[in-house]
Amino acid sequence: MFDNIPENNSYSYIDRKDLTAIRTGLRQAFIRSKYRAEFMRTKRVETVQYKKNGDVAKRPMVRFQCVECSCMFAGDKINVDHIKKVGSFLDIMDIENFFFRIWCDFDNLQILCIECHTLKTKRERRLDALSKKYL
Ligand SMILES: [Zn+2]
Repeated sequence: MFDNIPENNSYSYIDRKDLTAIRTGLRQAFIRSKYRAEFMRTKRVETVQYKKNGDVAKRPMVRFQCVECSCMFAGDKINVDHIKKVGSFLDIMDIENFFFRIWCDFDNLQILCIECHTLKTKRERRLDALSKKYL
């Protein structure tokens, strides 16, 4: 099967569907990564949690603040957003750059609630569509 790998390293034998699977896999790996969990640990806000009877609960309540709307959310209601967007890659040779765009410095990461993240993504897609149309 790999007898006809082109010598010019164009990797044209890699199907577009394979590239999509690699992209998705890397994004999912980041979501499950210790690196992302470590970033979230730096952003967690702990407050005292009370039981129904008014006693202080053993575990604190952990919340994260969305940088857009400033509201506080539980960990499953937020996304770790890349400020400078990760984007895509169309060529396997760009995979290393793509990797480092995902596993970037903490400076490029921020907490967004799901709603604000959805809005940001829509905004970026609109801008992309516009720039493709006019540039
Ligand atoms: Zn928000």
